[in-house]
Amino acid sequence: MTNVTNDIRFPIYLDNHSTTRVDPRVVEAMLPYFTDHYGNASSGEHRLGWHAKESSERARGIIAGSVNAESKEIVFTASATESNNLALKGIAEAYKDKGRHIVTCATEHRSVLDVCSTLETCGFRVSVLGVDNRGQIDLDELERTITPGTILVSVMMANNEIGTIAPIAAIGAICRERGILFHTDASQAYGKIAIDVQEMNIDVMSISAHKVYGPKGIGGLFVRRKQNGVRLITQMDGGGQEFGLRSGTLNVPGIVGFAEAAALAMRLGEEEQRRIAVLRDRLQMMLSAAGQTSINGDESARLPNNLNVSFHGVVVKDALADIREIAVSAGSACAFEDAAAEQYSHVLQAIGIGREQAASTVRFGLGRFTTEAEIAYTGARFTEFIHSYRSLSQHQPSATEVS
Ligand SMILES: *Cc1c(COP(=O)(O)O)cnc(C)c1O
Repeated sequence: MTNVTNDIRFPIYLDNHSTTRVDPRVVEAMLPYFTDHYGNASSGEHRLGWHAKESSERARGIIAGSVNAESKEIVFTASATESNNLALKGIAEAYKDKGRHIVTCATEHRSVLDVCSTLETCGFRVSVLGVDNRGQIDLDELERTITPGTILVSVMMANNEIGTIAPIAAIGAICRERGILFHTDASQAYGKIAIDVQEMNIDVMSISAHKVYGPKGIGGLFVRRKQNGVRLITQMDGGGQEFGLRSGTLNVPGIVGFAEAAALAMRLGEEEQRRIAVLRDRLQMMLSAAGQTSINGDESARLPNNLNVSFHGVVVKDALADIREIAVSAGSACAFEDAAAEQYSHVLQAIGIGREQAASTVRFGLGRFTTEAEIAYTGARFTEFIHSYRSLSQHQPSATEVS
């Protein structure tokens, strides 16, 4: 037996959908770019500039290769939020003479839904597809929603709350056949499931380094260039970097770190994801044994690191106030901020979960650094809390019963 406590790092981090710890190998790769190789990739007159340029071009090639794209099809941004903004606003502006209709889905990240709202105020029409109780859109409904004025469909590859993986290749095929551009937010999927932008008929795709053990502040946008490449209007004017699509001095340390993170994800590949899925399944089994739980999402198409559970009758806020040594999210980190506004997760709402159940819902996000011991501890800790919570609430009349 290994010493269990040696394999636990407190707080136990199970919030890997929000962000990830930077892999030490990524930090190592980045460090020289702060101290020795600090040139500006746009400086063409000296060695420091050339080195910065070569390093970022090598990184671009690695990231392109990881999704079967070409180097010139990858645009670096500061985040997936920025990538989503550039994709949707840039396409809307470039294709507005062709049509002004956009189709998206109810469970998208705020950085897609809010951009769509902004576009609505600029004269675009947006159709938001609903989802079933597993978080899947209906492909027939997608086909019916497309009109001659539709220019873009944006559907995320994997959901950040419930982990549902969309049938991206099928959606891409529908869009390709109808001559409509297809954007996907792959922030959660990238590095966890295999992505091939050719096979999946993806035209534009957003990714972010900090979701795959890379640094914060660096994102990417794949923009298809082959056969009537996608046109985009830049949302950032200036020095004309990134093929004129995104001005601003390149974040070379971030770019190098992103590429190292991408290379690691590819190298560790399926084996890493299988190990994580085994731990996730183990946690799911332990928690389900506590009774009166339900698993949210699509168990047949779910991210290997995602576990979204409702503990019926348990107020999760109370649980998390007690279980301080485990970092998890109540529903969604984004929805959490809305708590004051009496809102709850738009994703849970979209899959038909009511306010009360949402308040009983926890999102566990496992990752590369999650250990067996951490999962055993977490399963036991939550189970114990839930048992004592339920036995207490059985003996104490609830507030409604009193009144
Ligand atoms: C985290 C996330 C984003 C935002 O990424 P940032 O790089 O933090 O801006 C967008 N979409 C999804 C699905 C995400 O999980």
